[in-house]
Amino acid sequence: MPDILYIDGRFTTTDEKVLSVEDRGFQFGDSVYEAIKFLNRRPLLIEDHFRRMGNGLRELEIRSPWTRDEFLNLCDEILSKTAFSEGLIYVQVTRGVSERAHFYPDNLEPTALAYTRRVPFPDPVKKERGIRAVTTEDIRWKHCNVKSVNLLGNMIAKKRAQRAGVEEALLVIDGEVKEGASSNFFAVREGRVITHPSDSRILSGTVRDRVISLALGARIRVDERPVRDYELLRVDEAFITSTTQGVMPVGEIDGRVIGNSRRGEVTGTLQKLYDTLERQQAGMGALEA
Ligand code: PMP
Repeated sequence: MPDILYIDGRFTTTDEKVLSVEDRGFQFGDSVYEAIKFLNRRPLLIEDHFRRMGNGLRELEIRSPWTRDEFLNLCDEILSKTAFSEGLIYVQVTRGVSERAHFYPDNLEPTALAYTRRVPFPDPVKKERGIRAVTTEDIRWKHCNVKSVNLLGNMIAKKRAQRAGVEEALLVIDGEVKEGASSNFFAVREGRVITHPSDSRILSGTVRDRVISLALGARIRVDERPVRDYELLRVDEAFITSTTQGVMPVGEIDGRVIGNSRRGEVTGTLQKLYDTLERQQAGMGALEA
């Protein structure tokens, strides 16, 4: 069934062919995107997503098609037209349409689109069992802080993970684990949480940033420094974070079991805190004990 699609100021459905072949998003990946979770028809971490998208647009010198209020209203409007109450709002802003050339004209009218998708979020069994990962070389460009649609490096890594029969690829460069191909990576050692600092070599996740605040609020110490690849053998727990996965334990990396392979104590605490925050934002009741 087609989903509701907003494109350049009007609503249609995802079965309409709406893009020009000379859209720079298509030709050059000249474009940024966001994937926003909604629960109970409410968008989560919406201000964080809007802020990150604005930073990416500024860095690429693409004009923002929306003010904050316009964007929040647009999300509300899409959700009011959507038939299901939980899923993702996928947003993309490209530099716009111009005759194909590497030089881009200034002040193009950006192409702005957003649509909702029903996606399965992990169930309680999966959230306890966790996922497995492999390490692979980080072959991406140096501005990973921009959530651009240039995802070749991520996609190749993800395919490698899939071929190895696991769910996530951890991207390693110069012996440092940067992040997952579509998530941020955390290790836990002696009760402390370790994760890569928020710099241009990672996409600083909306969930990552919240989880760090939640950890600090729970008096769990957080070291923002890269995890070395050889340290992976010695960590007590590992987990990834992302909009779709929330806080997801990693039980095995490159075939080696992490901790006791089950969701560790710190991971479980942070997962519960983050799930509670999501439910609060969605105006839902507390989780069952
Ligand atoms: N890093 C990468 C490379 C990602 O693709 C994602 C998911 N979009 C994340 C981190 C996590 O970001 P978020 O928590 O905002 O979903």
